[in-house]
Amino acid sequence: DFAKSKTLAQQRQYLPIFSVREELLQVVRENQVVVVVGETGSGKTTQLTQYLHEDGYTTNGVVGCTQPRRVAAMSVAKRVSEEMETELGDKVGYAIRFEDVTGPNTVIKYMTDGVLLRETLKDADLEKYRIVVMDEAHERSLSTDVLFGILKKVVARRRDFKLIVTSATLNAEKFSNFFGSVPIFHIPGRTFPVKVLYSKTPCEDYVEAAVKQAMTIHITSDPGDILIFMTGQDEIEATCYALAERMESLESSNKQVPKLLILPIYSQLPADLQAKIFQKAEDGARKCIVATNIAETSLTVDGIFYVIDTGYGKIKVYNPRMGMDALQVFPVSRAASDQRAGRAGRTGPGTCYRLYTESAYLNEMLPSPVPEIQRTNLGNVVLLLKSLKIDNLLDFDFMDPPPQENILNSMYQLWVLGALNNVGNLTDLGWKMVEFPLDPPLAKMLLMGEQLGCINEVLTVVSMLSVPSVFFRPKDRVEESDAAREKFFVPESDHLTLLNVYQQWKANQYRGDWCNDHFLHVKGLRKAREVRSQLLDILKTLKIPLTSCGPDWDVVRKAICSAYFHNAARLKGVGEYVNCRNGMPCHLHPSSALYGLGYTPDYVVYHELILTTKEYMQCATSVEPHWLAELGPMFFSVKESDISMLEHKKKQKQEKTAMEEEME
Ligand code: ADP
Ligand code: MG
Repeated sequence: DFAKSKTLAQQRQYLPIFSVREELLQVVRENQVVVVVGETGSGKTTQLTQYLHEDGYTTNGVVGCTQPRRVAAMSVAKRVSEEMETELGDKVGYAIRFEDVTGPNTVIKYMTDGVLLRETLKDADLEKYRIVVMDEAHERSLSTDVLFGILKKVVARRRDFKLIVTSATLNAEKFSNFFGSVPIFHIPGRTFPVKVLYSKTPCEDYVEAAVKQAMTIHITSDPGDILIFMTGQDEIEATCYALAERMESLESSNKQVPKLLILPIYSQLPADLQAKIFQKAEDGARKCIVATNIAETSLTVDGIFYVIDTGYGKIKVYNPRMGMDALQVFPVSRAASDQRAGRAGRTGPGTCYRLYTESAYLNEMLPSPVPEIQRTNLGNVVLLLKSLKIDNLLDFDFMDPPPQENILNSMYQLWVLGALNNVGNLTDLGWKMVEFPLDPPLAKMLLMGEQLGCINEVLTVVSMLSVPSVFFRPKDRVEESDAAREKFFVPESDHLTLLNVYQQWKANQYRGDWCNDHFLHVKGLRKAREVRSQLLDILKTLKIPLTSCGPDWDVVRKAICSAYFHNAARLKGVGEYVNCRNGMPCHLHPSSALYGLGYTPDYVVYHELILTTKEYMQCATSVEPHWLAELGPMFFSVKESDISMLEHKKKQKQEKTAMEEEME
C-alpha cells in the first residue's frame, strides 16, 4: 500500500540511496570516476540521475545512463519522468535501437549500452554528455564491456567528463581497478533476511514444480507477492496458463481461495502489459509475477515475499558447432541465484524456494556469470572497433579480453561477407555496413540490395527480420491461423513471404483490422514499419537512392543469398539439409514456405538455426548454387555437377515456359 498512500516525492525519500545523497554527490564532485555499489532496489537507477541533475550537472550537458536491457531503459525513463513531473521524451527520455524518445529538452537520457556505443562512432568524445552512468555493470553485457575500454579513453581526454559505474553486487573492485583504483561508494542496504529452501531431489519439470509451489504458497502462506524465475517467453506463458487453470478449477469447485493476479514479464511483452507488474493488485489479490532474469536486478518490484527460482536462465553463447550465437538454457551462477533470492527480502523477511538441490548450488553452479564478450560472436564489435581505427583488436583495453579464437572467428565471418579485406582492414562495403545498427549479415543484405537495384524490397525484408514474428498462432485456432499464413507464402522463400505480408499490409492502408483478419500481429508490423523508416533515414543520409525491382523478386533472393554464406545448406533427404560449410544437419521447419511444396529445393540459405527437438532453420530461402559461388568466396562445397545440373533444369524450365507462352 506504500505506493498508494505516499506521494512520489515521499517514496523517493524513503529509498536507501536518499540517506547518503549528500556524501554521494560529494564523492562525485571530487572524483572523475566513481564506482557505486548498492543492493538492487536501493535507488541507483532511478535516483542517481536525478541527484546529478539537481546538483547542476545538466546546465551544460546531458546526464546519460546506460542499461543492458531495453525494457529497463524504457520502464525506468517512464518512472523518472513521472517522478520529475514531466512528459516522457521531454526532460527525461530514452533511446533504444530503432526508437528514440528524447527531444531538445532532454537532460536525463536513459539508453541501452548499445545505443551509447553507437554514439561513439559519430562523436568519439561523447561531447554531448557531461556525465555518464554505466548502470548494471555487473551484468557485463557485450556493449558494456566495450564501453569500458572506450570510456576509459574519454575520461583521459576530457577533464570535464565524469563517469559513474554502478553495480548491484559486491565484486566492484575489478571495476575500480580498471579505472586506476577509483573510489567505491557503498549505499547501505536495507534488506530483510530471506530463508532459502532447497529441493530435496533434482526436479524433472521445473514449470510444473514452480506452478505447484506457487499454488501451495498461495493457499497456505501469509499475504505477500510471489516472483517466479523462468528462462523465457514460452515457459512464462506455459506457467501463467497452468496457474490460471489451477485457479479456475479451484474456484469452480467453490473453494474459498483468495484472488491471484498472474502477471508475465519478458522483453518482448508490449510495454503496457509490462507496466502492470508495478501496479498494486485490486482488492487484496496476491500478485504472482512470472519473469525472465530481467527481474533479477534490472527491474525491482516491491512487495515480493516469496521467490521461486528454477535455477535456470537463457544466455547467448557462441556455438562453435553451429558457427553462430544461440540462446541456450543454462544453470545460472551462484551470484545470480543469490540475487534472485534477495528479491524476497526487500519489504520484509521472505522465503526463497530453490527448485534445485543444495549440492547443485554448491558444486554445479559457477560462482559468477561468464561475461558475454567471452562467449558470443563479436562481428558487430569487430566492425565497430575497426571503424574507430583500433586496428589491432588484441591491443584493445578489455577488462576481460575475449578469447583470441572468438575474435578471429568473427573476423573471418566479416571477411567472408566482404567487410574486411585480406589484411583485416575495413573495405568500402565494411565502412558502409558500420552505419547501420544491424547485425553484419543484414547490413550486407541491404547494401547488396543497393548494388542489385532492389533496396526497397530488401529494406522491407531486413525490417521484418528485425522484429518478432508477425504471425499470430492462438492455441485454440491453430488450423485457421496456419491456413491464413499459407496464403502469404511465396514459393521457396520465407524471406519473400515476409516481404509479401508487408506489401499486402501496405496495400491495405496499414490497417489493424486487416491484420486481425489475417492472423497477423499488428504491433509487430507497426514496429517493422518504424524500423523501416529509420533505416530509410540512414540510407538518405548516405545518399543511397531507393531502387526497386518491381514484381520480379528473383534479384531480392540473390541479395538475401549474399548475406548468408555461413548459413548455406545443401539438400540431403526429405526436409533435411546439411550446412555446406560444416556438414551440420539442419531441418526445414513445418511452418516454412518451403515445407509443403511437394519437392525440396537443392540449396537454401537460412536466417538462423533454432534448437528445439531438432536443429530447425528459421526463415529459409532457396538459392541458386552458382550465386553462392559467384557472390562469396568458394569455401563451401557446392558440387560442380550440381551447378551444371541445375543450370540445365532451369534452362529446361525456361524453354518450357517460353513454349507455353508461344502456344497461348
Ligand atoms: P536500483 O537501481 O538500485 O536497483 P531502482 O532505482 O531501480 O533501484 O528502484 C528504486 C525503486 O523505484 C524501487 O522500489 C522500485 O520498485 C521503484 N521503481 C522503479 N521503476 C519503477 C516503475 N516503473 N514503476 C514503479 N516503481 C518503480
Ligand atoms: Mg538498477
